[in-house]
Amino acid sequence: MKAALYIVPTPIGNLDDITIRAIDVLRSVDIIAAEDTRHSKPLLRHYDVATTVVSFHEHSGESEAGALAERIAQGQSIALISDAGTPLVSDPGYQLVRAVQGLALPIIPLPGPCAAITALSAAGLPTHSFRFEGFLSAKRGARRARLEALRGLDSTVILYEAPHRILDLLDDLFDVFGGSREACVARELTKTFETVRRDTIAALREFTRSDSNQQRGEFVVMVAPTAKDVGVVSEEVVQLLLRLARELPPRKAAQVVAEHFGLKSRDLYQILIERG
Ligand code: SAM
Repeated sequence: MKAALYIVPTPIGNLDDITIRAIDVLRSVDIIAAEDTRHSKPLLRHYDVATTVVSFHEHSGESEAGALAERIAQGQSIALISDAGTPLVSDPGYQLVRAVQGLALPIIPLPGPCAAITALSAAGLPTHSFRFEGFLSAKRGARRARLEALRGLDSTVILYEAPHRILDLLDDLFDVFGGSREACVARELTKTFETVRRDTIAALREFTRSDSNQQRGEFVVMVAPTAKDVGVVSEEVVQLLLRLARELPPRKAAQVVAEHFGLKSRDLYQILIERG
């Protein structure tokens, strides 16, 4: 086996979702560096991988990364795996990759499972451009501030969320993006209770809130891009805007509708000038 760091994706639920090449690499390398050695044991046992496993987790610092890179410099091959999916995607490995690069040693990434990409492929949301944000802050203020910054993006936003915070996230999305923005919740991908549901944020929030089973498991939440181009503001929204502008000053009406639908106030004001 060529001395190198192999980045090896592992299943995100269904044990069959591993490539033939990944199994071959895991069996052939000198060492597997795993995020959690105990967690990876069942997978490695399942595929008869007898390779020595060492730990490399989020608290492993530069010195651990440097020590592993040094082993590669001495001719060893190392496979990096995380608990699930693609290492480095909301998972440890960044420092290790940089340490190996720093010694000008080879890094060989294998393609494979990733919850974000798996979810996006089934979401029915635009895929021409997407923004992977992973986990938002556990602190509400910071989380909302980040969402505010993402609200006007012309890209599908992909978030990871833990079950105990899924309702909070949906509340925040409702408040910041507006209940009518389209989104998709992908839960327990590749597992028994896999659910992929696309709807408005308001409907998804209600669906998840009203059924405690829908609050369990692992989640990818995706939000549709903002309807930036004034040309794509639906006639229904325009009619609501025109109606509101009879009761409120035009700037206020534009602001209220913009906040609710996750649109740009300036664009809506422009519509009022043109059609009001
Ligand atoms: N490296 C992984 C990847 O490639 O997707 C992600 C690791 S991150 C620590 C774990 C998060 O990914 C979970 O909290 C969840 O948001 C998402 N995730 C992982 N597996 C999933 C699954 N089977 N269904 C839905 N989301 C999943």
